[in-house]
Amino acid sequence: MDTLNEITDYANLLKLPYLKENLLKLLDNAKANDQTYQDFLITILKHEITLRDSKLQERRLKNACFPVIKTLEEFDLNFQKSMSKREFNELSELTWIDRIYNLIFLGPPGVGKTHLAIALGYKAVKEGYRVTFTTMDALMHTLKTAEISKKSKGMLNRILSSSLVIIDELGYLPITREEANLFFGLISTLHEQASLIITSNKGMENWTELLGDPALTTAVLDRLTYHCQVITMNGKSYRLEHRQSLFDQNA
Ligand code: ADP
Ligand code: MG
Repeated sequence: MDTLNEITDYANLLKLPYLKENLLKLLDNAKANDQTYQDFLITILKHEITLRDSKLQERRLKNACFPVIKTLEEFDLNFQKSMSKREFNELSELTWIDRIYNLIFLGPPGVGKTHLAIALGYKAVKEGYRVTFTTMDALMHTLKTAEISKKSKGMLNRILSSSLVIIDELGYLPITREEANLFFGLISTLHEQASLIITSNKGMENWTELLGDPALTTAVLDRLTYHCQVITMNGKSYRLEHRQSLFDQNA
């Protein structure tokens, strides 16, 4: 029993939680299956790696701050005809993240811009990329308060260390001159360092009005579109087409 305690203590010190929690089970299993010394060690190490990977993924998912989880499997391409199956598959492969390409999804409300952005981000998290989701509105708050708020500073640091940053809903709310400058600063910092997905209900020709200054808008677009795929999504609103009302059910 002393030896078992000693092993548990060492497992604890070495941060091997699987071994610590499952020592007796591992030993019983080894005996029952006549495991060799090598197999016994490999079993333990494999379990530790699996556990570590799933904990890291859990942390990445939490840090990504997705408002909801949406998946690529749930995305109905028959409904969103602006994109071909081939284009959809190419996006799904995520090679554009390694090549530091940006994606810009444009279109009216309800066409699936946020769904697609989250679904790609979620797949990226599962494949080991660091991802941060934010709305333009929340991003402005983060940038303006990063110096005075620990929470905002943490968020900004997460954004700056992400491989993929999703900025949802550019253009829904007006922004000030100061905010436009902060936005430009961030885009410049992330340029050629991380991929961005930006969604907007405004065409890029209207972004000057949005950012308030033609020179600044040109500078932002210059960086954003350097390596970039713009996807214009149109058609009907999925929400309106699939609207369910409470009293319709028995009609
Ligand atoms: P947008 O961001 O363009 O306003 P959303 O992505 O929020 O639209 O989509 C609105 C709702 O419709 C969400 O619940 C989303 O999951 C669903 N939706 C939109 N397009 C599709 C699609 N092509 N396949 C499946 N669900 C969709
Ligand atoms: Mg949206």
